[in-house]
Amino acid sequence: MTLKASTRQTTSSLIFPFSTPPKIGSPVSVSEGIHWCRHQLPFALDHINTWLLEDNGRRVIVDTGIADNLSQDGWNKILESEQHSSEISKIIVTHLHPDHIGNASWLNSRTNASVWMTQAEFLTAQAVFEKNPSHTTSAIDALFRRHGLPGNDSMSVAEKGDHYKNLVGSLPTSFIKITADDLLKIGGNFWRAIVGSGHSPEHLSLYCEEKNILIAGDMLLPRISTNVAVWPHSPDGNPLEEFLTSIDTFLKLPADVLILPSHGLPFVGAHQRVKELQNHHEERLNKILAICSEPQNAFQILPTLFERELDAYQLFFAMGESIAHLNYLWWAGEVCRQESTSSQGVVNFVKQ
Ligand SMILES: [Zn+2]
Repeated sequence: MTLKASTRQTTSSLIFPFSTPPKIGSPVSVSEGIHWCRHQLPFALDHINTWLLEDNGRRVIVDTGIADNLSQDGWNKILESEQHSSEISKIIVTHLHPDHIGNASWLNSRTNASVWMTQAEFLTAQAVFEKNPSHTTSAIDALFRRHGLPGNDSMSVAEKGDHYKNLVGSLPTSFIKITADDLLKIGGNFWRAIVGSGHSPEHLSLYCEEKNILIAGDMLLPRISTNVAVWPHSPDGNPLEEFLTSIDTFLKLPADVLILPSHGLPFVGAHQRVKELQNHHEERLNKILAICSEPQNAFQILPTLFERELDAYQLFFAMGESIAHLNYLWWAGEVCRQESTSSQGVVNFVKQ
């Protein structure tokens, strides 16, 4: 991606073939043998979509919701229904975030089906759950302080991300590994593993060529831009570059592929959506670069990135996003980094 001075507005004309989401516990069919389920989430983002794929009389579950009573009641209703009370053959998890992996262990106990996922997602989930030194709240606090979040706010913001264990309950203790380009035979169809990063380390999407359907997880959402953040275990990382490279691969899919996203409604218009997201990040990078004629830290540029007022929970994700954009410009050679001498070790970025 090249940086340009202009900003572009995009007018979305995605096609949404299904205008109404399913009710909790009552899946609806989106294609022969593919059923769309909904679960509530107790956040501003108030729902997640999960998928049930018919597999020669059995069912494959893709993603699981958070481990709370509401979501588990929904699963019980689905798995006890006449249509879906079949044996579960696989539990596939797209990535480690709690709304996706939350009930994997519970469903594994309930159904005896194995959990299938990529290795980095499985292992990173353990690191977050067990609060390994690389994944503690104090490591996040230190990262945010280094990037300018005032010390008296930093720990309370870092603690906003400290709910993983509550939302997951327990993690699967074993898994079957999926790697890029694996072909999973489900029912009469093959689903190809498309592995991406930037949102999480080895996020799994699944593409079925025969059906021209992509189960996108969080990598391609119709209305919101996926969170892309720097975390303390890789403070110099470039997740935005990884994310943009990853979604670029969706341009190789047919333009009329039906996208089944984890949030929002299924849609057609993958190529357009990828370009909108690329433009969105390009605009943000250009805005940041323009103000980096003076040294800036990640906290200082938040009003440039986010027009709305941010509460502590939103600030948690916004700080990681802000650092991701600055690291992108740093890796691209557009800005250099300065350790400030005036304020304790805060890192500033300034145009080369
Ligand atoms: Zn996610």
